[in-house]
Amino acid sequence: MTKDMHSNCDALLQSLSEYIDGSLSDEMCQEIRKHLETCGDCRVVFNTTRRTIDLVRMPPKEPESLPEDVRERLIKRLDLEGLLPARES
Ligand SMILES: [Zn+2]
Repeated sequence: MTKDMHSNCDALLQSLSEYIDGSLSDEMCQEIRKHLETCGDCRVVFNTTRRTIDLVRMPPKEPESLPEDVRERLIKRLDLEGLLPARES
């Protein structure tokens, strides 16, 4: 059971950026939502990731408050580079 939970979490975390992106099928989204409802660990990761991705993607309302290099450093610090689609250097 613990093993199942873990592989479930693994699978979820791997699809997390796609889920946030909205590029998963309805079925997959439903599974992920169900898992998030029951798994506090993944929920924390999900919330953190979504907030960070939102922050990075949205143009800042006041450009001075979040300059480009700060955003880049934030991504690097949170190690989210791999989660952002199509930005391989
Ligand atoms: Zn989980």
